[in-house]
Amino acid sequence: MEVLAGQKHKHLEFTLVAVSELSSSSVPPSSTPVIARFSVDSGVAELRFRQASGFIDGFNVNLGTAQLFKLGPLKSLCISGSSDSNKEKSYARGVTILFRNEEESRDFHSAFEQWQNEDVTQGTHLPNGAISDVKSKFDNKIEPSSAKMYFHYYGQLLHQQNMLQDYVRTGTYYAAVIENRADFTGRVVVDVGAGSGILSLFAAQAGAKHIYAVEASEMAEYARKLIAGNPSLGQRITVIKGKVEEVELPEKADILISEPMGTLLVNERMLESYIIARDRLLVPKGKMFPSVGRIHMAPFSDEYLFVEIANKALFWQQQNYYGVDLTALHGSAFQGYFSQPVVDAFDPRLLVSPPMSHVIDFNEAKEEDLYEMDIPLKFVASVGTRVHGLACWFDVLFNGSTVQRWLTTAPGAPTTHWYQIRCVLSQPIYVMAGQEITGRLHMVAHNAQSYTIYLTLSAKMWGPGAEQGGIIQSSSCKLDLKEPYYRMSQPQPYTTAQDQQSHQLLQPQDIPIHTDDLEEPKLLQQPLENSGAQLQ
Ligand code: SAH
Repeated sequence: MEVLAGQKHKHLEFTLVAVSELSSSSVPPSSTPVIARFSVDSGVAELRFRQASGFIDGFNVNLGTAQLFKLGPLKSLCISGSSDSNKEKSYARGVTILFRNEEESRDFHSAFEQWQNEDVTQGTHLPNGAISDVKSKFDNKIEPSSAKMYFHYYGQLLHQQNMLQDYVRTGTYYAAVIENRADFTGRVVVDVGAGSGILSLFAAQAGAKHIYAVEASEMAEYARKLIAGNPSLGQRITVIKGKVEEVELPEKADILISEPMGTLLVNERMLESYIIARDRLLVPKGKMFPSVGRIHMAPFSDEYLFVEIANKALFWQQQNYYGVDLTALHGSAFQGYFSQPVVDAFDPRLLVSPPMSHVIDFNEAKEEDLYEMDIPLKFVASVGTRVHGLACWFDVLFNGSTVQRWLTTAPGAPTTHWYQIRCVLSQPIYVMAGQEITGRLHMVAHNAQSYTIYLTLSAKMWGPGAEQGGIIQSSSCKLDLKEPYYRMSQPQPYTTAQDQQSHQLLQPQDIPIHTDDLEEPKLLQQPLENSGAQLQ
């Protein structure tokens, strides 16, 4: 028995020896097998038969009205009202089915019952697009409790507001859409993870013919309200509550728009949903806004940050805490603090070398490419200093046919709610100016919508040992991107004292930061500190 439970389009297939109509033996048993296919078409569960030459005409069985009888161990009879629209043929019909063995006959009968059962077909046809309930790619890889918390978070207006108030983010999206009207005018758009619906409304302003705003959280209801409150734009927008991995739309999109970026670009694993949406909902070679993402990485030196993190564990060095010796847990606490990626906005003068990048082309990438990313690192130190870890940020490209625009989260550029990320080593390494720093950034996706990060940085030691063949100093750490340390509540770390130190580190002009259009919008405003950005 070949059973094929379709992931993308819900269906189930069985191989049979033959089928024939009761009244006429129009399809006699032949040497080529017949495939019986259970599927849902326009919300109706049906059974169809095909041979190598294609579907067998007139053999459609509407499962809503059909009955299946066992005539023998290998033979069954299916009686149904025809689903054929041709009135002359709309009398009840019988189809005899010949199975290859008893086991397949049994399985076919139970599948027949299941597909008649409302639970299977329920939810497959909604006014604004259908939702397939075959376990989706999302459900297969994401822990339900993580998904529940995630969509609960995005279901709240305060978190959508936090993103909307990131004017660098929202302003760049607005500019990218409005400046590239030609890509939207008269086009069908899908907004992947629409949230409040803001990007759909931008696309409508740019003249889109129709926009499907797909949003899985309860925010879909608010999006409906917001869109109804803007009727001149809203009449071209349909909000669909569901996951992009599951919804079925009445037509394919010419262009996808989405804001799927998390910290370090990939946190939240929503980029995978964006890629799945491309494969499911976009016409071949359709446009994606944004179409490219880049993770930028560079070693940094920040004594204050290092001491701050190391000091957090000092609590556990007390030998008499109400009479209890805490030191047994000091090692674990120390490790725990260094496993948290630090999220804040830092001064680019803390970078020790020019950055390198890892590019993800959203048009070409496969979803699986994001399950694991292993990035070899190689830098040349511009100054002699202690390297405390790796700093990372990202940017994305709107490759419009009129204007190309980058949204950047680089240090030194106007701050976004993503800030930057720093992975701090518990053992810093020493480098001299001109020295090569090598390493590896290995990111492995986990089922809580985030990544485990393995970082190694290495440099040859200077001094007598180095001259005799080189002694490598190497430092590694393991971090969980899901458990960041939001440092924004701390006093701004870049005090005069550190600025004075900067002359021995780097001058800003030494480091080319890929910000491409930094001088951008005058409307930009820094998001508030302590704005509580938890996820994106
Ligand atoms: N587009 C909005 C919201 C971006 S935040 C804006 O730019 O302001 C990302 C949104 O995508 C969240 O509201 C989240 O609930 C939604 N989302 C994440 N994964 C999704 C998925 N697989 N299917 C549908 N929506 C999803």
